[in-house]
Amino acid sequence: MRNRQATKLIFELSQDGRRGAKMPTCDVPRQDVSSLLPAAALSASPPPLPEVAEPDVVRHFTNLSTLNMSVDTHFYPLGSCTMKYNSKRNERLAALPGFSDIHPYQPDETIQGLLQLLYELQEMLAEISGLPAVSLQPAAGAHGELTALMVAAAHFRELGEVRTKVLAPDSAHGTNPASARMAGFDFVTIKSNADGNVDLEDLQAKLDDEVAVFMITNPNTLGLFDCQVNEIANIIHAKGGLIYLDGANMNAILGIARPGDFGADMMHFNPHKTFSGPHGSGGPGAGPICVAEKLGDYLPLPVVTKHDACYRLDFDRAKSIGRVRSFFGNVGVLVRAYCYLRTHGAEGLQQVAENAVLNANYLLSQVKHMLPVPQGDRCMHEFIATASELKKKKGVTAMDLAKRLLDFGFHAPTVYFPLTIAECMMIEPTETESKETLDAFAETLFRITDETKECLQEAPHSTLISRPDEVQAARVPTLKWTPESVHVTDK
Ligand SMILES: *Cc1c(COP(=O)(O)O)cnc(C)c1O
Repeated sequence: MRNRQATKLIFELSQDGRRGAKMPTCDVPRQDVSSLLPAAALSASPPPLPEVAEPDVVRHFTNLSTLNMSVDTHFYPLGSCTMKYNSKRNERLAALPGFSDIHPYQPDETIQGLLQLLYELQEMLAEISGLPAVSLQPAAGAHGELTALMVAAAHFRELGEVRTKVLAPDSAHGTNPASARMAGFDFVTIKSNADGNVDLEDLQAKLDDEVAVFMITNPNTLGLFDCQVNEIANIIHAKGGLIYLDGANMNAILGIARPGDFGADMMHFNPHKTFSGPHGSGGPGAGPICVAEKLGDYLPLPVVTKHDACYRLDFDRAKSIGRVRSFFGNVGVLVRAYCYLRTHGAEGLQQVAENAVLNANYLLSQVKHMLPVPQGDRCMHEFIATASELKKKKGVTAMDLAKRLLDFGFHAPTVYFPLTIAECMMIEPTETESKETLDAFAETLFRITDETKECLQEAPHSTLISRPDEVQAARVPTLKWTPESVHVTDK
């Protein structure tokens, strides 16, 4: 049973005069504020804050915190997001005072431990990517894309080449075209072929001397490793362009294949996905980028360098594109990534990738009996199933299934992405889930695909809010409380 208090706003719990704290008697002379501040700066009445006791506050927020799904409470197969378990050891280490209590303006010699950690993280990412020059600055994967495209622009400016276009396949994440445009390029979409890989004919047709970068996600968002990637890199390089690897799916190939070895010139990591940083609701994340030697000089400031066992932040780089974020980046996320990498080691990382792929293929082998998997019998770390047939048969959509899964304690998979597959569900179990969990998810899917249209279309039945108008909620958010704005439906 849910605590009913969680259905109320804290303002509704307010009782006049109730207090959570008691102030000591004032022992200095009282001053009339109107003699200290101009009239315009004074409010006629105190702010309308809720008046509640300490237990009310604690219960209210504790109960609210249980209304959401999280990796700590539920299986979370959200495709492309790699919602693996976030080890608590990483949290403890990131909270050490030497990481969490320092000031970004402290002199380098007083933060040698942190700088050593960041330096070693740069080295590890260079090793995993096969690309030697690293910046830890970008604050998210999307920001890494933007930063790398700015690096590419600086490179072509120096060469005196006018290259105005960035290409990416139609299965790419929406951040790819967005980053291209923000970096000042025109964006051109390349078709996928029937197998879900890059359509080479379409690529050849759209390739010219104005192409700066081809962005490829490999494995791609359909959960497939595009084996043409070497050939694609050769084609792009022959025209003088660069290959950018969107590294969001690195969980599938860690320690097995290196982007620098299959033709990439630049890439980003999403440590909050691949290296188990807790994430959701827009952050926090990081988007370190790795680039080829010839692009290293353009990386943002600062990079961490080492001379005679002494680490420092290097701002003395004439060709750098400058800062892309304050200070050193999202250090807390980077510390967690470092702990993750050190915990697993090289062999462990390879096993992470193997188990992620094994789990996804196991789940695929179950799910395909209920929902068609258009790209066939094998996948990398995630796969796409489609509810198209179910929709034809009984008018039930991917959204209905996603909503109904919540009633059974499963976070929904990603739905309606990539845009190339109708009614798709993108399922990514990750390596941190057991066979029992995967079986329970498959059994639930089996059960709900058999339910009536009415039941599914009204789902979820067990949550406080069932089907909010998501567009309205995003476009017209209620940010200010008034007695009239109470919008939680009390079921
Ligand atoms: C998550 C993701 C991104 C964007 O990364 P953020 O860290 O969320 O900014 C880009 N491409 C793909 C394929 C992704 O899954």
